[in-house]
Amino acid sequence: MAKTILVVEDEKDIANIIIFNLERNGFETLEANDGPTGLKLALEGAPDLILLDVMLPGIDGFEICRKVRAQSQVPIIMLTAREEETDKILGLELGADDYVTKPFSNRELIARIKANMRRFSELPAPAEEKERASGIEIAEEGAAAYKDGKLLDLSVREFDILSYLAAEPGRVVSREELMEKVWGFEYYGDLRAVDVAIRRLREKIEDEPAQPRYIITKRGLGYYFAKS
Ligand code: CA
Repeated sequence: MAKTILVVEDEKDIANIIIFNLERNGFETLEANDGPTGLKLALEGAPDLILLDVMLPGIDGFEICRKVRAQSQVPIIMLTAREEETDKILGLELGADDYVTKPFSNRELIARIKANMRRFSELPAPAEEKERASGIEIAEEGAAAYKDGKLLDLSVREFDILSYLAAEPGRVVSREELMEKVWGFEYYGDLRAVDVAIRRLREKIEDEPAQPRYIITKRGLGYYFAKS
């Protein structure tokens, strides 16, 4: 079944090009040219992924991202302008999965969409709770992580980071290595995105995110998963 992508972009020329290319690649599309319509379609249109511009009339992309994320883990890719460095970080803080920087090539956009969809489809259904041991446990086969027996509500990126670090407890992993292994070699992102993702992950898995027990910072070197 064709996947549906919601395109929220107020610049009609850009929206048209994106939609033309999405449809040529077999996707179905929903289009919104302002914030309120974008938010409504995001919540009611059941898209499989959202491409979200930042500057929009009515409600901006950050606010839409925050509101959608409060209800859904649907993949969100922010469309940001090259000069707006802080936008990328803020989008990730608010729960966006990824961003592409304008101007982007169609090939880059399609590749990023496919990567985010693939990872999302590997997430377990939230109903899959079962009895587990205390502490953090990772079930690679279902791409699920548990804390004290409860399924953790992680994004794909957060799961990937956790499982990468936890694969070798005690080994310090640099931010560059995490960026390469988790975001992928094609990614030329800002290393601060790693810190942002770690912070969000800690908020979900640590009892006291400021005093982490599981994911420890090795100052100047990177992060490691604590040995139990
Ligand atoms: Ca715009």
